[in-house]
Amino acid sequence: MSEERPGHSATTADVVAELRRRAAFVMVSHVKPDGDTLGAGLALGLALERIGKRVCYFQQDPVPRTLRFLPGAARVSRELPKDLPADALFVFCDMSDPARAGSFLPAPARENVLDIDHHLGNTLFGALNYVLPAECSTGTCVMHLLRGLNVEIDAEIATCVLTTIMTDTGGLMHSNTSPEALELAAALMRRGADKERITREIFGNKRVAATRLLGRVVGAMQFGHDGRYCWSCVDDATLAACDADGEDTEDMVNVLLGQEGVEVAALFKAYDGEVRVSLRSAGRVNVQAAAASLGGGGHFRAAGMEYAGALHEAVAAVDAALVAQGLSSRA
Ligand code: 5GP
Ligand code: MN
Repeated sequence: MSEERPGHSATTADVVAELRRRAAFVMVSHVKPDGDTLGAGLALGLALERIGKRVCYFQQDPVPRTLRFLPGAARVSRELPKDLPADALFVFCDMSDPARAGSFLPAPARENVLDIDHHLGNTLFGALNYVLPAECSTGTCVMHLLRGLNVEIDAEIATCVLTTIMTDTGGLMHSNTSPEALELAAALMRRGADKERITREIFGNKRVAATRLLGRVVGAMQFGHDGRYCWSCVDDATLAACDADGEDTEDMVNVLLGQEGVEVAALFKAYDGEVRVSLRSAGRVNVQAAAASLGGGGHFRAAGMEYAGALHEAVAAVDAALVAQGLSSRA
Protein backbone atom coordinates (compact mmCIF):
# COMPACT_ATOMS: atom_id res chain seq x y z
CA MET A 1 0.00 0.00 0.00
CA SER A 2 1.13 3.55 -0.58
CA GLU A 3 2.49 5.11 2.56
CA GLU A 4 1.36 8.44 3.84
CA ARG A 5 3.26 10.01 6.68
CA PRO A 6 1.69 13.24 7.83
CA GLY A 7 4.00 15.43 9.92
CA HIS A 8 2.79 13.98 13.16
CA SER A 9 3.24 10.31 12.34
CA ALA A 10 6.40 8.44 13.28
CA THR A 11 8.21 6.79 10.39
CA THR A 12 7.96 3.06 9.77
CA ALA A 13 11.69 2.77 10.54
CA ASP A 14 11.29 4.51 13.93
CA VAL A 15 8.43 2.26 14.95
CA VAL A 16 10.21 -0.89 13.76
CA ALA A 17 13.32 0.09 15.75
CA GLU A 18 11.21 0.53 18.89
CA LEU A 19 9.51 -2.84 18.34
CA ARG A 20 12.92 -4.49 18.03
CA ARG A 21 14.22 -2.72 21.17
CA ARG A 22 11.41 -3.86 23.48
CA ALA A 23 11.09 -7.40 24.83
CA ALA A 24 7.49 -7.42 26.06
CA PHE A 25 4.24 -6.08 24.60
CA VAL A 26 0.61 -5.57 25.53
CA MET A 27 -1.62 -5.36 22.48
CA VAL A 28 -4.65 -3.23 23.40
CA SER A 29 -7.95 -3.24 21.50
CA HIS A 30 -10.93 -0.95 22.02
CA VAL A 31 -14.24 -1.56 23.79
CA LYS A 32 -17.00 -2.97 21.57
CA PRO A 33 -14.18 -4.52 19.54
CA ASP A 34 -14.40 -4.97 15.80
CA GLY A 35 -12.32 -6.99 13.36
CA ASP A 36 -9.88 -4.14 12.80
CA THR A 37 -8.85 -3.36 16.38
CA LEU A 38 -8.57 -7.06 17.29
CA GLY A 39 -7.22 -8.32 13.96
CA ALA A 40 -4.52 -5.63 13.87
CA GLY A 41 -3.40 -6.38 17.44
CA LEU A 42 -3.34 -10.12 16.85
CA ALA A 43 -1.46 -9.77 13.56
CA LEU A 44 1.29 -7.67 15.11
CA GLY A 45 1.31 -9.66 18.35
CA LEU A 46 1.60 -13.03 16.60
CA ALA A 47 4.42 -11.66 14.42
CA LEU A 48 6.29 -10.33 17.45
CA GLU A 49 5.93 -13.71 19.14
CA ARG A 50 7.39 -15.38 16.04
CA ILE A 51 10.58 -13.33 16.56
CA GLY A 52 10.83 -14.24 20.23
CA LYS A 53 9.00 -11.40 21.96
CA ARG A 54 6.66 -11.80 24.91
CA VAL A 55 3.13 -10.64 24.03
CA CYS A 56 -0.19 -10.49 25.83
CA TYR A 57 -3.54 -9.24 24.54
CA PHE A 58 -5.70 -6.84 26.55
CA GLN A 59 -9.31 -6.15 25.72
CA GLN A 60 -11.91 -5.02 28.23
CA ASP A 61 -14.90 -6.59 26.47
CA PRO A 62 -15.19 -10.28 25.59
CA VAL A 63 -14.35 -11.26 22.01
CA PRO A 64 -17.59 -10.93 19.98
CA ARG A 65 -19.03 -14.19 18.63
CA THR A 66 -18.18 -13.17 15.06
CA LEU A 67 -14.46 -12.77 15.85
CA ARG A 68 -13.78 -15.87 17.93
CA PHE A 69 -12.39 -17.64 14.88
CA LEU A 70 -9.42 -15.26 14.73
CA PRO A 71 -6.09 -17.00 15.44
CA GLY A 72 -5.09 -16.07 19.02
CA ALA A 73 -8.53 -14.73 19.98
CA ALA A 74 -8.75 -17.14 22.91
CA ARG A 75 -5.75 -15.44 24.52
CA VAL A 76 -7.44 -12.05 24.84
CA SER A 77 -8.01 -11.04 28.46
CA ARG A 78 -9.17 -8.08 30.54
CA GLU A 79 -6.36 -8.75 33.01
CA LEU A 80 -2.67 -8.07 32.70
CA PRO A 81 -0.10 -10.65 33.85
CA LYS A 82 1.26 -9.96 37.36
CA ASP A 83 4.88 -10.24 36.19
CA LEU A 84 4.63 -7.79 33.30
CA PRO A 85 8.01 -6.03 32.88
CA ALA A 86 8.00 -2.29 33.68
CA ASP A 87 9.15 -1.44 30.17
CA ALA A 88 6.50 -3.44 28.34
CA LEU A 89 5.20 -1.49 25.33
CA PHE A 90 1.42 -0.94 25.24
CA VAL A 91 0.32 -0.98 21.60
CA PHE A 92 -3.08 0.71 21.16
CA CYS A 93 -4.68 -0.39 17.89
CA ASP A 94 -7.44 1.46 16.02
CA MET A 95 -8.13 4.11 18.67
CA SER A 96 -8.17 7.87 18.15
CA ASP A 97 -8.20 8.31 21.92
CA PRO A 98 -6.87 6.00 24.71
CA ALA A 99 -10.19 6.24 26.57
CA ARG A 100 -11.53 3.89 23.88
CA ALA A 101 -9.59 1.08 25.60
CA GLY A 102 -12.04 1.32 28.52
CA SER A 103 -11.60 1.92 32.23
CA PHE A 104 -10.11 -1.43 33.25
CA LEU A 105 -6.68 -0.86 31.75
CA PRO A 106 -4.29 0.77 34.25
CA ALA A 107 -3.07 3.87 32.36
CA PRO A 108 0.46 3.13 31.11
CA ALA A 109 3.20 5.80 31.20
CA ARG A 110 3.23 7.70 27.91
CA GLU A 111 6.81 6.56 27.22
CA ASN A 112 5.43 3.01 27.04
CA VAL A 113 2.65 3.76 24.57
CA LEU A 114 2.65 3.11 20.81
CA ASP A 115 -0.50 4.32 19.03
CA ILE A 116 -1.23 2.62 15.67
CA ASP A 117 -4.29 4.02 13.95
CA HIS A 118 -5.97 5.32 10.78
CA HIS A 119 -8.64 7.61 12.24
CA LEU A 120 -9.06 11.29 11.48
CA GLY A 121 -8.56 13.36 14.62
CA ASN A 122 -6.26 10.91 16.42
CA THR A 123 -5.14 12.70 19.59
CA LEU A 124 -1.51 11.48 19.23
CA PHE A 125 -1.51 10.16 22.79
CA GLY A 126 1.50 7.86 22.50
CA ALA A 127 5.23 8.42 22.79
CA LEU A 128 5.19 7.05 19.26
CA ASN A 129 2.18 7.64 17.03
CA TYR A 130 1.93 5.67 13.80
CA VAL A 131 -1.18 7.29 12.36
CA LEU A 132 -1.89 6.83 8.65
CA PRO A 133 -5.37 8.21 7.80
CA ALA A 134 -5.08 7.17 4.14
CA GLU A 135 -4.96 3.49 5.12
CA CYS A 136 -8.22 1.53 4.90
CA SER A 137 -7.60 -0.27 8.21
CA THR A 138 -5.28 -0.29 11.18
CA GLY A 139 -4.27 -3.76 9.98
CA THR A 140 -2.82 -2.32 6.79
CA CYS A 141 -0.77 0.12 8.92
CA VAL A 142 0.49 -2.96 10.79
CA MET A 143 1.45 -4.55 7.44
CA HIS A 144 4.05 -1.80 6.86
CA LEU A 145 5.57 -2.67 10.25
CA LEU A 146 5.57 -6.40 9.51
CA ARG A 147 7.45 -5.72 6.28
CA GLY A 148 9.90 -3.53 8.19
CA LEU A 149 10.39 -6.28 10.78
CA ASN A 150 10.96 -8.72 7.93
CA VAL A 151 8.80 -11.39 9.54
CA GLU A 152 7.20 -14.10 7.45
CA ILE A 153 3.49 -13.55 6.87
CA ASP A 154 2.05 -16.97 7.66
CA ALA A 155 -1.57 -18.06 7.19
CA GLU A 156 -2.62 -17.00 10.71
CA ILE A 157 -1.17 -13.52 10.44
CA ALA A 158 -2.57 -13.20 6.91
CA THR A 159 -6.06 -14.12 8.15
CA CYS A 160 -5.84 -11.48 10.88
CA VAL A 161 -4.78 -8.73 8.45
CA LEU A 162 -7.36 -9.71 5.82
CA THR A 163 -10.01 -9.56 8.56
CA THR A 164 -9.06 -5.93 9.26
CA ILE A 165 -9.44 -5.08 5.57
CA MET A 166 -12.72 -6.96 5.14
CA THR A 167 -14.14 -5.36 8.31
CA ASP A 168 -13.24 -1.75 7.60
CA THR A 169 -14.07 -1.85 3.88
CA GLY A 170 -17.44 -3.53 4.58
CA GLY A 171 -16.41 -6.63 2.65
CA LEU A 172 -14.45 -4.65 0.02
CA MET A 173 -17.40 -2.39 -0.75
CA HIS A 174 -16.79 0.96 0.97
CA SER A 175 -15.03 3.86 -0.77
CA ASN A 176 -11.79 3.11 1.12
CA THR A 177 -11.41 -0.08 -0.97
CA SER A 178 -8.38 1.21 -2.87
CA PRO A 179 -6.49 -0.71 -5.56
CA GLU A 180 -3.74 -1.11 -2.95
CA ALA A 181 -6.22 -2.66 -0.49
CA LEU A 182 -7.36 -5.15 -3.15
CA GLU A 183 -3.76 -5.99 -4.09
CA LEU A 184 -2.88 -6.55 -0.46
CA ALA A 185 -6.00 -8.70 0.02
CA ALA A 186 -4.91 -10.85 -2.93
CA ALA A 187 -1.36 -11.17 -1.56
CA LEU A 188 -2.74 -12.19 1.84
CA MET A 189 -4.94 -14.87 0.24
CA ARG A 190 -1.83 -16.25 -1.46
CA ARG A 191 -0.23 -16.44 2.00
CA GLY A 192 -3.15 -18.57 3.14
CA ALA A 193 -5.59 -16.01 4.56
CA ASP A 194 -8.92 -17.78 4.97
CA LYS A 195 -11.26 -15.39 3.13
CA GLU A 196 -14.11 -17.91 3.05
CA ARG A 197 -14.03 -18.21 6.83
CA ILE A 198 -13.85 -14.43 7.33
CA THR A 199 -16.84 -13.93 5.03
CA ARG A 200 -18.86 -16.64 6.74
CA GLU A 201 -18.09 -15.65 10.33
CA ILE A 202 -18.39 -11.87 9.97
CA PHE A 203 -20.81 -11.31 7.09
CA GLY A 204 -22.81 -14.52 6.81
CA ASN A 205 -24.08 -16.93 9.41
CA LYS A 206 -26.45 -14.40 11.04
CA ARG A 207 -28.21 -15.43 14.21
CA VAL A 208 -31.97 -15.63 13.80
CA ALA A 209 -32.19 -13.20 16.75
CA ALA A 210 -30.13 -10.68 14.78
CA THR A 211 -32.37 -10.96 11.74
CA ARG A 212 -35.48 -10.52 13.91
CA LEU A 213 -33.83 -7.44 15.41
CA LEU A 214 -33.05 -6.11 11.95
CA GLY A 215 -36.76 -6.46 11.18
CA ARG A 216 -37.56 -4.25 14.19
CA VAL A 217 -34.90 -1.69 13.28
CA VAL A 218 -36.17 -1.50 9.70
CA GLY A 219 -39.78 -1.32 10.91
CA ALA A 220 -38.89 1.67 13.12
CA MET A 221 -36.95 3.60 10.43
CA GLN A 222 -37.67 7.31 10.37
CA PHE A 223 -36.75 9.74 7.64
CA GLY A 224 -35.91 13.43 7.88
CA HIS A 225 -34.51 16.27 5.80
CA ASP A 226 -36.51 15.30 2.72
CA GLY A 227 -35.45 11.67 2.90
CA ARG A 228 -31.74 12.41 3.11
CA TYR A 229 -31.53 11.27 6.73
CA CYS A 230 -32.60 7.85 8.01
CA TRP A 231 -32.48 6.86 11.64
CA SER A 232 -33.74 4.16 13.96
CA CYS A 233 -33.37 3.00 17.57
CA VAL A 234 -32.69 -0.16 19.54
CA ASP A 235 -33.35 -0.29 23.28
CA ASP A 236 -33.27 -2.97 25.99
CA ALA A 237 -36.90 -3.91 25.37
CA THR A 238 -36.31 -4.38 21.63
CA LEU A 239 -33.30 -6.59 22.30
CA ALA A 240 -35.25 -8.67 24.83
CA ALA A 241 -38.23 -9.06 22.46
CA CYS A 242 -35.89 -10.55 19.82
CA ASP A 243 -33.74 -12.55 22.25
CA ALA A 244 -30.83 -10.51 20.83
CA ASP A 245 -27.93 -8.64 22.40
CA GLY A 246 -25.76 -5.66 21.51
CA GLU A 247 -23.44 -7.69 19.28
CA ASP A 248 -26.40 -8.35 16.98
CA THR A 249 -26.67 -4.63 16.08
CA GLU A 250 -23.25 -4.67 14.39
CA ASP A 251 -23.46 -3.20 10.87
CA MET A 252 -27.24 -2.55 10.95
CA VAL A 253 -26.68 1.16 10.42
CA ASN A 254 -25.43 0.32 6.93
CA VAL A 255 -28.89 -1.00 6.02
CA LEU A 256 -30.29 2.43 6.91
CA LEU A 257 -27.63 4.16 4.79
CA GLY A 258 -28.43 1.83 1.90
CA GLN A 259 -31.96 3.23 1.44
CA GLU A 260 -32.59 5.16 -1.76
CA GLY A 261 -31.84 8.88 -1.42
CA VAL A 262 -30.31 8.59 2.05
CA GLU A 263 -27.13 10.62 2.62
CA VAL A 264 -26.71 10.09 6.35
CA ALA A 265 -27.87 7.30 8.66
CA ALA A 266 -27.90 7.03 12.44
CA LEU A 267 -28.62 4.07 14.70
CA PHE A 268 -29.31 4.98 18.33
CA LYS A 269 -28.44 2.16 20.72
CA ALA A 270 -29.98 2.71 24.14
CA TYR A 271 -29.20 -0.43 26.10
CA ASP A 272 -26.88 -1.85 28.76
CA GLY A 273 -27.09 1.46 30.66
CA GLU A 274 -25.74 3.75 27.92
CA VAL A 275 -26.79 5.54 24.76
CA ARG A 276 -24.42 4.95 21.84
CA VAL A 277 -24.83 6.30 18.33
CA SER A 278 -23.49 4.89 15.06
CA LEU A 279 -23.32 7.34 12.16
CA ARG A 280 -22.73 6.62 8.47
CA SER A 281 -22.45 8.99 5.50
CA ALA A 282 -22.71 8.36 1.76
CA GLY A 283 -19.84 10.84 1.28
CA ARG A 284 -21.08 14.43 1.35
CA VAL A 285 -21.63 15.02 5.09
CA ASN A 286 -18.66 14.57 7.44
CA VAL A 287 -20.00 12.36 10.25
CA GLN A 288 -16.60 12.28 11.99
CA ALA A 289 -16.90 16.03 12.57
CA ALA A 290 -20.50 15.63 13.76
CA ALA A 291 -19.50 12.84 16.17
CA ALA A 292 -16.45 14.78 17.39
CA SER A 293 -18.67 17.78 18.22
CA LEU A 294 -20.52 15.46 20.62
CA GLY A 295 -17.43 13.86 22.15
CA GLY A 296 -17.03 10.91 19.75
CA GLY A 297 -14.98 10.31 16.62
CA GLY A 298 -14.28 8.03 13.69
CA HIS A 299 -13.90 8.53 9.95
CA PHE A 300 -15.49 10.92 7.40
CA ARG A 301 -18.08 8.28 6.42
CA ALA A 302 -18.29 6.18 9.63
CA ALA A 303 -18.28 7.55 13.16
CA GLY A 304 -19.78 7.02 16.57
CA MET A 305 -20.09 8.29 20.10
CA GLU A 306 -21.49 7.62 23.53
CA TYR A 307 -24.12 10.22 24.42
CA ALA A 308 -24.32 11.29 28.07
CA GLY A 309 -28.07 11.86 28.27
CA ALA A 310 -31.45 10.43 27.38
CA LEU A 311 -32.30 8.86 24.02
CA HIS A 312 -34.62 11.66 22.89
CA GLU A 313 -31.91 14.21 23.71
CA ALA A 314 -29.40 12.21 21.69
CA VAL A 315 -31.76 12.18 18.70
CA ALA A 316 -32.11 15.98 18.82
CA ALA A 317 -28.40 16.61 19.45
CA VAL A 318 -27.29 14.35 16.59
CA ASP A 319 -29.77 15.98 14.20
CA ALA A 320 -28.36 19.41 15.07
CA ALA A 321 -24.75 18.20 14.75
CA LEU A 322 -25.50 16.73 11.31
CA VAL A 323 -27.21 19.93 10.16
CA ALA A 324 -24.09 21.83 11.29
CA GLN A 325 -22.12 19.56 8.92
CA GLY A 326 -24.35 20.36 5.96
CA LEU A 327 -27.26 17.90 6.21
CA SER A 328 -30.26 19.86 4.95
CA SER A 329 -33.63 19.60 3.26
CA ARG A 330 -33.86 20.24 -0.44
CA ALA A 331 -34.17 23.93 -1.27
P1 5GP B 1 -19.39 2.07 14.96
O1 5GP B 1 -20.58 2.87 14.54
O2 5GP B 1 -19.14 0.93 14.03
O3 5GP B 1 -19.42 1.69 16.40
O4 5GP B 1 -18.12 3.03 14.82
C1 5GP B 1 -17.82 3.68 13.60
C2 5GP B 1 -16.50 4.38 13.72
O5 5GP B 1 -16.55 5.37 14.73
C3 5GP B 1 -15.32 3.48 14.10
O6 5GP B 1 -14.22 3.89 13.33
C4 5GP B 1 -15.09 3.74 15.55
O7 5GP B 1 -13.77 3.60 15.88
C5 5GP B 1 -15.55 5.18 15.72
N1 5GP B 1 -16.18 5.36 17.03
C6 5GP B 1 -17.29 4.74 17.50
N2 5GP B 1 -17.58 5.14 18.74
C7 5GP B 1 -16.63 6.03 19.09
C8 5GP B 1 -16.38 6.79 20.29
O8 5GP B 1 -17.10 6.72 21.28
N3 5GP B 1 -15.28 7.60 20.26
C9 5GP B 1 -14.47 7.71 19.17
N4 5GP B 1 -13.41 8.53 19.24
N5 5GP B 1 -14.67 7.00 18.05
C10 5GP B 1 -15.74 6.17 18.00
MN1 MN C 1 -10.36 0.71 11.93
